[in-house]
Amino acid sequence: MLQSLRTEVCEANLELVRRGLVVYTFGNASAVWPENGLIVIKPSGVPYDRMTPADMVVTDMEGRVVEGNLRPSSDMATHAALYRAFPAIGGVVHTHSRHATAWAQALREIPCFGTTHADYFHGPVPITEHLTPEEIETDYEGNTGVAIIRAMEGRDPLACPAVLAAGHAPFCWGRTVLAAAHNAVVLEEIAAMAWQTVTINPDAKPLPAAQRDKHYFRKHGPKATYGQGGC
Ligand SMILES: [Zn+2]
Repeated sequence: MLQSLRTEVCEANLELVRRGLVVYTFGNASAVWPENGLIVIKPSGVPYDRMTPADMVVTDMEGRVVEGNLRPSSDMATHAALYRAFPAIGGVVHTHSRHATAWAQALREIPCFGTTHADYFHGPVPITEHLTPEEIETDYEGNTGVAIIRAMEGRDPLACPAVLAAGHAPFCWGRTVLAAAHNAVVLEEIAAMAWQTVTINPDAKPLPAAQRDKHYFRKHGPKATYGQGGC
């Protein structure tokens, strides 16, 4: 199991490169093995073209290394905070993908302007508050997780599988790490579409609720009819 998680996490990290979401070593992906409370995460600063499943680092739910010779990604504490808060998720992905990051830097949530968005997110993609100087000084990465969890209050993590960290970039998740990577790719696409939408019409309005719900629930939940099942 741990070996297959290592392979999956490595594969998810490489998928982010293939899809043009990361440059150099920006970005990281992890998976959790809930029964054992273990997290498998990309090592810090290892070039993607030399990365293998054996390089992945295994930590406990507090982010303490239990297996591996390399240091875990510097965003480890954010990933761990999300796994502790959202038991339904199995993978987390962080990138600085250009368009989603632009919304994070503009301090704007991404409105649900169209059905592409509504197929994946049941509403806007939220944005966190800025961290306070104390939060940055004491536990920057852990407090980034806390800010994301706060921005998700009242939302189902699987119905809103991403948050923009203010002035930083998106964190995405899913039932598995490969689903989280998929959501990161979709988020980048809808962020680009939303930017072009407000460029064409600065007064563009979100999708009407009925159409948003139709698209979201066609793909998710007990009444899903999209595809061949098992989305
Ligand atoms: Zn980052």
